[in-house]
Amino acid sequence: MRLNDPETCRVFDVQRFSIHDGPGIRTTVFLEGCPLRCGWCQNPEAFGHGHAKPMLIAAILAEVLKDESYYALSGGGLTVSGGEPLLHLAPVRALLEGAKGRGLHTCVQTSGAVPQAHFAGVLDLVDLFQFDLKHMDSPRHRQLTGVATERIHANAAWLLQQGANVQFRMPLIPGLNDDAENIDAMAQFLITHGALALCLVPYHRLYVDKYRAMGLEPGVQGLEPPSDARLAQVRQQLEQRGVAVTVEG
Ligand code: SF4
Repeated sequence: MRLNDPETCRVFDVQRFSIHDGPGIRTTVFLEGCPLRCGWCQNPEAFGHGHAKPMLIAAILAEVLKDESYYALSGGGLTVSGGEPLLHLAPVRALLEGAKGRGLHTCVQTSGAVPQAHFAGVLDLVDLFQFDLKHMDSPRHRQLTGVATERIHANAAWLLQQGANVQFRMPLIPGLNDDAENIDAMAQFLITHGALALCLVPYHRLYVDKYRAMGLEPGVQGLEPPSDARLAQVRQQLEQRGVAVTVEG
């Protein structure tokens, strides 16, 4: 397999009948590789522990198209996730081209931490970007994920300038990014860029068993999911600033 081979990519899961990865019923394809190392990452398979296997783009598309009739009925389609799928520009472009060629809705889930050229390289093929914002303060973001925010925020702003359909999502991790200062900065960032909605993704602990089964320890341990009361406070803080909030799950 050549690096960035347009015909092949390394896949660690293909989830059919996904309902949280964009509108309608979808198939989500998870690609190996991520420049971040979030301590709460639900997908350690992305970090290359031998769980991914090379798949031809044609084979992935064939798998995705098995549920074509469900997409048509529900307004669903293909979601490309990871890891960070946009690390792999050529094969992801080929996959999206194949899906669009069949009239499917396409969604890309991204951390934003790739060169802007990689967004430009798929812009015409993506109906929805689900774009994670994890922390607004760059040094703190680097502490939590291993990378700074500058490129991520520049890519978010660029996508909006291009008129892309972007759904911003924030993993809400109690004690790590749910403080009032960060929530305020999040609201300010969104408002400044004319994006007036945010999807909160509450932290959960389901992934811990997955790590242990893989012989790994998660980077973040001992946290509890946000309480309903805390979730309501965060929601209220955002809404008071003019940001419409949805909560995933
Ligand atoms: S960006 Fe996503 S896939 Fe990458 S480490 Fe963070 S949570 Fe995991």
